[in-house]
Formats: sequence, structure tokens, C-alpha cells
Amino acid sequence: MAHPVFDRKKRFVVILAVLLGVGFLATTLISYYVARDSLARHISDEMLPLTSDNIYSEIQRDLLRPILISSLMANDTFVRDWALNGEQDSELISNYLGEIQKKYGTITAFYISDKTLNYYHPDGIIKVLDSDDPEDGWYFPLRNYPADYDINVDDDTVDRSRLSIFINYRVKDYAGRFIGVTGVGLSVNSVVALIESYQRRYGRQIYFVNRDGEIMLHGKDYDLGPRLRDRPGLAPFATQILTAPSTTLTYQRDGERAEIYLNSRLVPEFDWYLMVEQKNDSGKERIDQTLLVNILLALLVTVAVLLVANFTLRGYQQRLIDMATTDKLTGAASRHGFDSIFEHDVKLAKRRQQPLSLLAIDLDHFKSINDSYGHQGGDTVIQVVAARIREQIRDSDTLCRWGGEEFLVLLENCALDAALQRAERIRQIISAKTVRFGRDEIDVTMSIGVAQYYPGEGLDALINRADGALYAAKGDGRNRVKSA
Ligand code: GH3
Ligand code: MG
Ligand code: MG
Repeated sequence: MAHPVFDRKKRFVVILAVLLGVGFLATTLISYYVARDSLARHISDEMLPLTSDNIYSEIQRDLLRPILISSLMANDTFVRDWALNGEQDSELISNYLGEIQKKYGTITAFYISDKTLNYYHPDGIIKVLDSDDPEDGWYFPLRNYPADYDINVDDDTVDRSRLSIFINYRVKDYAGRFIGVTGVGLSVNSVVALIESYQRRYGRQIYFVNRDGEIMLHGKDYDLGPRLRDRPGLAPFATQILTAPSTTLTYQRDGERAEIYLNSRLVPEFDWYLMVEQKNDSGKERIDQTLLVNILLALLVTVAVLLVANFTLRGYQQRLIDMATTDKLTGAASRHGFDSIFEHDVKLAKRRQQPLSLLAIDLDHFKSINDSYGHQGGDTVIQVVAARIREQIRDSDTLCRWGGEEFLVLLENCALDAALQRAERIRQIISAKTVRFGRDEIDVTMSIGVAQYYPGEGLDALINRADGALYAAKGDGRNRVKSA
């Protein structure tokens, strides 16, 4: 049964679904992107610089002091006088170096004379530097070094816990000529431990890079190459990082989805860059999970709303159809509903090869009933007559209120003779019984025209024939049955 109400309902449900879907999707996606954006901003604008600041101040505490000590040694008039006077008594300088080492808790203190290449140490002269020995290679470039000092990291790559840093401070005579190098060595234990604790706590990678891009200091589990450009994904950014005092950027490693946030800053005292990196994995995962949950929730709510809408609409729809297809006064089929019932019965009769008949009924002199008992009396008669007709037909037959006091009865599997008998029976029963209205008993009769359905005949034609018979019955004096 293709009813226009059905199409409208389908359209309504589709529009509702689209509205809900688009609404939910829009809010979910917007909040997703806002959350992702604020996470990214939080990492790059707040978390990384803060980590960088903290480490920087720790580094200063750990490394700046040795530079100061070395500077004091290089400018000490005792050291310079002793060297310029021909390095007379090596015990004097050894005692001096020993005092420095003890007082400041460094792992070593040293003086190298450029004239003799003696390496003075708290224990005395421990060696004479040799320009052909690669182990002494760090010293010779210092002769023409442009800055006051250089920081040299002991490249003991085997045991990082024994890593040490040497401050090599240039010593000049009173005329400013280079005469040697002094300074202290210190363990970078504390710096490395700090790097590692930060790495563990925040899942960040922390390391130091010199101006040439060599990685100078890092935590234990670093295994991504000796140079900045060896780090996967960083090569295109190496120059940018090494030419700016500070940089904030994001990069990706090949084949990895996660973005890596990087913050670099130059530590001018060492001429090194402090690098802090963080993957935004965990936060992003949480946001992605929330997105998934939101989408599921939205789907659930959409489905629930659609179900409720569908359910409610179906109730209304059924009521509308009932209202349109049922007569309110008698409960019989209405004229509107009769069309489809007729079509249905015709198909059934065709399939089962059964006859089908129609009775056209009109109450006799109904105007005078209305006149005598009023409109309400007339309605009561129509109601009672309809009920009495229904008692005389099968459930598979259909009673239809065609007009005011006109009825149609469609008799399934019923040929003309049987239909005439049925009509006659109905006529007799109606005329034999009065209808009670208040205190009145109303006499009612009816005329009936009977027609059997011709295969292929339309409803209008069939009704016309039955109506013709009915007209004939009226003409013959009413209260009778006529066949078409
Ligand atoms: P006839 O024997 O020729 O059928 O005479 P009649 O008076 O019944 O004439 P007709 O069938 O042409 O008129 C039917 C009248 O029934 C007309 C109208 O005033 C009245 N009527 C129609 N519908 C209703 C209704 O729903 N309720 C009531 N009370 N009266 C109705
Ligand atoms: Mg009539
Ligand atoms: Mg009538």
C-alpha cells in the first residue's frame, strides 16, 4: 500500500538523520581539532620551553662554575709569573693545582706550558704533549683560538657515566701573548643524570649539539647518530637550527605518524645548543580515543532518536490511515478505504478463481426518519443498521459506508444467487426489527441492488450496475432486493 504519508515519513526520517548526523559530526570534529591544536600549542609553547629553561638553569649551575674557576686560574698572577720565570719549581704549580682541585671538588686541574709542552697536574708533570699524538690533538688548535676558552668533552664513548668535560682556558702573558692552557676537568654525571631523569619523567629526548651539529651530550639510551643531521627526519632542519639562537619546530620521522616537537636554544657559555624533543603520542592518542567515543555516542544517540521518531510516527501514521479509511459513526470502511479493499479482493478472487459480488444498499425514506426523530435519530438508525448488516456477513466480507445512509457490501467468494440470498436475509432482518431511539421504536426498511463482478470490470462500473438494480428496487416500491 503506497500511501503518501509513507513517503513523507521516509523523507522526514532521512532529514532528521542528516540533521542529527551533520550536527553531531560538526561539533565532534570541531572539538577534536580544537583539542589537538591546543595540545600541540601546549607542547610547543609551554612544556618544551619550560623544560628547556629548567635544564638550562641546572646546566649553568653545573658548568658555569668550572668556567669561572678556569678563568680565575688563567688570570692568576702566580700562574703567569711562575710560567714566565721559567717553570722553576714544578712542586709550586702542582700544589696550586691540587688546592684548586680540592677546594672546588673538580676531578682534575691542569696547566700546560706552551714553551715546554709539559702537562702539569696535582701529582706533578704527568706527560709532555706531542703534536703527533692524536690524544693530544685537542691542545694545538688552542694556540690561535679566537675565544678565551674551549670546552672539550672527553670522548670516552664506552662508559658514559665517566664522561668528563674539560675547560681549556687560554693563558696569556702581560702583553697578551699566548703562553699556555689551564683549567679544570669535571664529571658530567650530574648533567647526564638530569637529562635522563627529564627524559624518563616527561618522555622527552634531551641532548646537546655544538655549532657544527655534533651531538655532545645525551642520556644513556641515545642511539640516533653522532650528528644532528643523522637524526631521522631532522636533516632538512639542521641548518635552520644551527644558525638561529632558538628554534621551535615539528618534524616527522619516515614511516611514523606521530609528530615530534623540537625546541632548541643556544647556551652561549658553551656555544652548544640545548635540544628538547617530544612526541605528542600519548596526548594525541587520548584525543583520538575521545573522538572515537564521541562518534560512537553520536551514532548511538542518532539511532535512538531515529528509532523513537520512527516509532512515534508509525503510531500517528496508523491513526491517520485508520481515520482516512474507517467511518467514524459506524466503524465500517469509508469510501476512501474501500478502493484498496476492492482491489485486494479482486486480485484474491482472480487468483483463487472465485466469484465476487456487491450489494448496494440505501435506506428507504430516510428523510422522513430525519424529519421525525431529528438528525440524531437518523444517526442512531445508521449506526444500528450497520451493526445488524455486519452480523449477517462473514469477516472476509466488507461493509462500507458509501454515503449518508448508503452502504456497499462486498461479498468474497460469492456468486449472484448466494449474494441475492444474503441480501434478502439482510433486508428481512432490518425490516423485522425496529431501532430503539430513546423511547421511540423506529421502523426501518432498505432497498438492495445486487451485482456479480465481471472479471476485468472496474469498481465504478460494478457500482453503477448494483446502483441500477437498487434504483429499480426503489422504483418497484422499496423494501426489496433486485439483481442487476
Ligand atoms: P429514498 O427512499 O428514495 O432513498 O428516500 P430518502 O429519503 O432516503 O432519500 P435519499 O436517500 O435521497 O436521501 C437521504 C437523506 O438522508 C438525505 C439526508 O438529509 C440524509 N442524510 C444523509 N446523510 C446523513 C447522515 O449522516 N445522518 C443523518 N441523520 N441523515 C443523513
Ligand atoms: Mg440515499
Ligand atoms: Mg434513502
